[in-house]
Amino acid sequence: MLSLTSLGAAGTVTGSKHLLTHGDTRILIDCGLFQGLKNLRELNWQRLPVEPRDIDAVVLTHAHLDHCGYLPRLLLDGFSGPIFATAATRDVAELILLDSAWLQEKDAEFANRKGFSKHKPALPLYRVADAERTLAAFRPVPWHRPVALPGGATLRFRRAGHILGAASAQIDVAGRTFAFSGDLGRYDDPVMHPPEAVPEADYVVVESTYGNRRHDRADPVEALGETIERTALRGGTVVIPAFAVGRAQTLIHELWRLREAGRLRNVPTYLDSPMATSATELLHRHAADHKLDPADYEAACAAVTYVRDVEASKALSANRYPKIVISASGMATGGRVLHHIAAFAPDHRNTLLFSGFQAAGTRGRKLLDGARETKIYGQWVSVNAEVAEIPSLSAHADSDELMRWLSGFRRPPQRVFVVHGEPEASEALRERIQRELDWPATVPLQNRNYPL
Ligand SMILES: [Zn+2]
Repeated sequence: MLSLTSLGAAGTVTGSKHLLTHGDTRILIDCGLFQGLKNLRELNWQRLPVEPRDIDAVVLTHAHLDHCGYLPRLLLDGFSGPIFATAATRDVAELILLDSAWLQEKDAEFANRKGFSKHKPALPLYRVADAERTLAAFRPVPWHRPVALPGGATLRFRRAGHILGAASAQIDVAGRTFAFSGDLGRYDDPVMHPPEAVPEADYVVVESTYGNRRHDRADPVEALGETIERTALRGGTVVIPAFAVGRAQTLIHELWRLREAGRLRNVPTYLDSPMATSATELLHRHAADHKLDPADYEAACAAVTYVRDVEASKALSANRYPKIVISASGMATGGRVLHHIAAFAPDHRNTLLFSGFQAAGTRGRKLLDGARETKIYGQWVSVNAEVAEIPSLSAHADSDELMRWLSGFRRPPQRVFVVHGEPEASEALRERIQRELDWPATVPLQNRNYPL
């Protein structure tokens, strides 16, 4: 008896967890945190509908928090199996999980000190020691080669583009083939290799972040350059909230290309995220996993000022000269970018520039939807700065590119499950799959078991 159950990223973009069950064998594909709207975040505190100790293995497609951030909690609740991932994903997960655990501990401590938690005492979802224990459970998997999973299943990773180490997972079990897209990147990304097709599958689980959108085909670097130049002419600063792993490195490269073309003179770039700085170093360690020439990348990195400590970060907020500040988190839900937004949003000369997907309920989405004020650290901040978006700089395929990846299957699958999208995006991609490919497609309901 074979079945699939999505425990997250079903009708939403975060909390990716897909459970593949065959007899007594349970394999969990991705194990992410819910982010964004409060009712979603609260799901991180509910027990899963499956006992973690009954899960035999986790397959991790990539190390963004919404795909790996629940892993330490899974171990705390009894999971003791291996976690299969590419070597680069394991290294990225180390940055992401240790940072996440540290933030969880700090938030709980802050809530206890200020006494504003319903829970007494407020507890972290997990601690740094739990994240360390999780990292010890990782089993690095080479690209393209079949690897044995529990229960006689096999796993094969192919490149998904998106971010360093990101993979699509083919899992063969009980004579059936499953293809999990993971998060798919863009086919012409300047940093990542393009997504690879999976030749055949009986069941496909595909992401749909931009299932209802087509990215602008114009060069996003041109839009980036224009936005910065327009802001600098006004004497303003451009604040770019960026995912520390993925977008921050692409932005560094694109800004360097603009400088090489003689643009952005006298507008310095600051990377204010210790995690993004470490992630930049990982590109050097995993040189085969991206397209950048080491010498170019060295030059691109040399054109950036790295801000490591908090005092220097605060000084940057106080500096009123035109400049570019790249800082995490990418959806402006936390991190150092918050005090830059607090400092720069009130002045109309500045620009807040979003380049990645902004989930419902996040500060980034509210600002893009036109919010004229935003609450940061308990204080209302008025937003008079320009708020701009270049979605084509995103690390996610648009709907045409999702269709292109799906057209790589040489025979029609029996069913496609459309996940990892907000309801309109998933529904739009589901309709497009049925209309253009005539394949049965379903947007799964969270925690519903689909027998196959
Ligand atoms: Zn991702």
